[in-house]
Amino acid sequence: MKFAYIVSLPHSGSTILSYNLSEHPDIVFLGEVGYALQRLRESKSQNTSVPCSCGKPAAHCDFWSSVVGRLPARFDEQAGYEIVIEEFQKKFGASKLLLDSNKTVEPLYFLRERPGLEIRGIHTTRDFRGAVVSEARRKKKKRPGRSEWITAIQAGFQWMRKNRAIQRSFGELNLDGMCRTSYEKLCKDPAAEVEKIWRFLGMSPRSFEGLASAQNAHLLAGNTLKSSGGTRTPTYDSRWKSSWIWWPCVLLMPILPLLNKRWVYGRD
Ligand SMILES: [Zn+2]
Repeated sequence: MKFAYIVSLPHSGSTILSYNLSEHPDIVFLGEVGYALQRLRESKSQNTSVPCSCGKPAAHCDFWSSVVGRLPARFDEQAGYEIVIEEFQKKFGASKLLLDSNKTVEPLYFLRERPGLEIRGIHTTRDFRGAVVSEARRKKKKRPGRSEWITAIQAGFQWMRKNRAIQRSFGELNLDGMCRTSYEKLCKDPAAEVEKIWRFLGMSPRSFEGLASAQNAHLLAGNTLKSSGGTRTPTYDSRWKSSWIWWPCVLLMPILPLLNKRWVYGRD
């Protein structure tokens, strides 16, 4: 069974990329599977319902309802993944690809050991200037008294540290294929980028149309995109261009522009 694992830092466009990839009829996007399992576990203990991006609650969703029915009262992430994979094969057959978007690489370590899975990894990044400015703005809303400069420097450091860690893990894991993309590349030419990744995933050739209605997605994560079909097409957030708050990052970490050039705008 084909399995694609997209990993990125938060707010780096991995959800929008995944929605667009799921326009291919052989791809089903299940959101952040680890996070979905966590939400389902909480909802079980609190007796609440989790909404799915298909518009139904998880307990009535075409896909998640069969998973919910099988989840024991206590389960760990690996056991939960096993149920998701089995139900996915039952529901969609072995020819479909399961697309999982994530903020960490940890589940890959046990998925890699599972027989019968062909796993391809996609690392998606975002220009560090955009990442830093958007993080500084989000933090300012939460804690208005805190210095934006300090948040920005921390965000720049995290951008470098976490993206490096993802690159290193992908190398260690010896996956069946790895590729890198970025929010910038996706927004610049969505069709070229999506079709390139479809080829990398071994999908049949197809023209990308950018139709939100054609996307096959069942996303349980609490992302704001979850129910708004209109925001499933890439539009570039260029607010960083009118901000200087990322400058101290460059002065303190002069390697950032080089990494940016390689990871965000590079050829692979
Ligand atoms: Zn659903």
